[in-house]
Amino acid sequence: MKKPEEMSPETWAVVSGRPSAPGSPLNHPITAASNFRPGGDHWYVRNEGTDALDGLEATLGGLERGSTVVFSSGMAAASAVLELVPMGGAVAVPTDCYHGVAALARSGVEQGRWGVTRVEPSDTDGWVAAARNCDLLWLETPSNPLLELTEVAAISSSADRRAIVAVDATLATPLGSRHLARGADVVMHSATKFIGGHSDLLLGTVSSRDETIDQGLRTHRRLAGAFPGALEVFLCHRGVRTLALRYERASANAAFLADELGSHPKVKRVYYPGSGAMVSFQIAGGDQVADRLCGSLELIANATSLGGVETTLERRSGYGEGSDHLPPGLIRMSVGVEAAADLWRDLEEALKGLDTK
Ligand SMILES: *Cc1c(COP(=O)(O)O)cnc(C)c1O
Repeated sequence: MKKPEEMSPETWAVVSGRPSAPGSPLNHPITAASNFRPGGDHWYVRNEGTDALDGLEATLGGLERGSTVVFSSGMAAASAVLELVPMGGAVAVPTDCYHGVAALARSGVEQGRWGVTRVEPSDTDGWVAAARNCDLLWLETPSNPLLELTEVAAISSSADRRAIVAVDATLATPLGSRHLARGADVVMHSATKFIGGHSDLLLGTVSSRDETIDQGLRTHRRLAGAFPGALEVFLCHRGVRTLALRYERASANAAFLADELGSHPKVKRVYYPGSGAMVSFQIAGGDQVADRLCGSLELIANATSLGGVETTLERRSGYGEGSDHLPPGLIRMSVGVEAAADLWRDLEEALKGLDTK
């Protein structure tokens, strides 16, 4: 088998991590087992996993150009990364950040486990300073939900960096980013989102190039037990086969919708980083008007989460914890693979009926 660097990531995503023995199926079937008879590589699944999990980790690791450990959810993956912080250490977290990770960092503060500093996603000087003083930087780019960008390479290569650099690249996908090559130590994804791609599973990934970090993550997964289930492993591997196709189509749709929304009089501001499948926008008139828009769409689903084949949106301002910094009427949209014209017609008709005064 060729190495990932010898082919395009689109090809790797399709051909990697599959069985090769004569007579084997083209892809790993669902391995519904907890234990195996002795004599092979696998003994108990929480310890050694399965061939199907090895296959998925090989595919994802190749896309990331590192070694990937799959966890039972994105939050399990994020928890495993935060375990790298020593007791009494310091963590820097973005001001605009996935709310679950912000809450996890805060719970560590409440337990006296570590201290947390918050840094603006685009404040490179702030991150560089934090890299000297903290044990771990948690970067998220694009950030959720304001889609701000962080300069991973500049921060990772800063002089006197002491902190481990971890990047939550969920919104960028492994195709839209390759942060290990930019100097990050670990890259995390919620595979629940674009990697799985069909809103039908929870999984998380952590990738690294450091043997010690990789082994530490595997030990943590074995002992904490945040192990991926067999069905999820199967669905995720099937999903990632089409990641390139889905992400390309969704990104083209997002560019089109960002453009249309930007010139609509009832839209105050569009947040779009110039690529990717996420578009956030602020509706004139505030949260109630935003709710009315979200509730009056037909094709686009008013639902949380993101990264599925279907377009979804939800109001994020006034969402509760961690949303104080968001402007009123902020909607986050995850763009899917439907026809762009149909999506815009759905939005345009719903916008038409809105009284934004
Ligand atoms: C969803 C998400 C997570 C958490 O992942 P789960 O799979 O829901 O546990 C973390 N970070 C980002 C950016 C996310 O979108």
